[in-house]
Amino acid sequence: TTSTLSPTRPACRTVPPLLPVVGADTPVPLATGGTTTYANLDNAASAPALAAVADRVAQVLPHYASVHRGAGYLSQVSTALFEQAREQVGRFLGAREDDVVVFTRSTTDALDLLSRAVPAGARVLVADVEHHANLLPWQRSARTTVVRGGADAEETTALLEAELATGQYALLAVAGASNVTGEVLPLRRLARAAHAAGARLAVDGAQLLPHRRVDVARDGIDWIALSGHKLYAPFGAGALVGRRDWLDAAEPYLAGGGATLDVSHDAVRWATGPDRHEAGSPNVVGAVALAQACTTLAALPAGALEAHEAALRAQLVTGLSALEGVRVVRPHPADAVGVVTFTVPGRPVSEVAAYLSAEHGVGVRDGRFCAHRFANSLGLVEGGLRASTGVGTSSADVERLLAALEQFLTTGS
Ligand code: PLP
Repeated sequence: TTSTLSPTRPACRTVPPLLPVVGADTPVPLATGGTTTYANLDNAASAPALAAVADRVAQVLPHYASVHRGAGYLSQVSTALFEQAREQVGRFLGAREDDVVVFTRSTTDALDLLSRAVPAGARVLVADVEHHANLLPWQRSARTTVVRGGADAEETTALLEAELATGQYALLAVAGASNVTGEVLPLRRLARAAHAAGARLAVDGAQLLPHRRVDVARDGIDWIALSGHKLYAPFGAGALVGRRDWLDAAEPYLAGGGATLDVSHDAVRWATGPDRHEAGSPNVVGAVALAQACTTLAALPAGALEAHEAALRAQLVTGLSALEGVRVVRPHPADAVGVVTFTVPGRPVSEVAAYLSAEHGVGVRDGRFCAHRFANSLGLVEGGLRASTGVGTSSADVERLLAALEQFLTTGS
């Protein structure tokens, strides 16, 4: 079967969604007055929840109560759900026996926590291609070196390896996949380089984990950070997973209930493990939802996620490249997830994005994607347009974007 709507675009293979997500049929208003369904090509910002996640949330909502503190039945159920979620997230990521799974609000929260756990005097290495969440927590320390990224992921990797080889770093922090170009970094290679130089590797997994399986033990990753809302679960829950020593030695991320063993007038004895950094009543439902997303993704047949995404990425890049008047940024990286940034030179990105939404119900992201230094170096000082796929995306969604852009370009509206 073919799905092409335009004689100028080659026919492409029909790719259905890989997993059911919620909200796919929600009507969205059009400027013309009618409605359409949402063609969601903004999964990299926040991905819609899996239907399995929505079912699980509905199932646990009647059962939650405060965890760890109550002896009542619902507190026991909630505590079990929360700790089971911790176990599931750790298993999904291949956590080592002694690793800690700290529930956080998001990737931003997780990386901020890790940045505060770096031992005094230790030096950190990052590249300027990072999302602000994996740049600003490090950049605020005078002991961080920010190297300029290269012309592609290979060159950036080589630059990081060369810098690591100076032997002065305790930590390298990199995104597993770029939220601007989709480029995937060779994490095992970077882990080897970091460890050989006496450093550790922290990975911002926000964009990688919705698309690729990661096993921290196998891949040599010391810490990984993730966000539920990018991984097909709702907002407000994320995690930091990895080595225990720095986290146990660090100041508690938040000071408050649940993070302590004993409090007296003169002293506080802080807990170790996840409790140390999880003061306050935790987001039990968010953790359970995140864990369900992990479990559902883990149950996919080997290679299914990658094959689905590769087909959609190819359709996007081929279709966008074929449109005269569209420039695709780094269209053919050696390895990339379904995140493609493009511009329509001469037309403000906000105008194009607004047109796609109002006239066609197509959602993309415009701007500099919270990665200003990288965007600027890619010539996107005025911003770019980003189309990003997820497990709920089909080739029909991509086709709607391409057809809408073609109309924009031909009618000039
Ligand atoms: N890292 C990358 C690569 C991202 O794309 C994002 C979000 O866009 C983040 C970190 C921050 O995620 P959150 O806003 O969930 O903390």
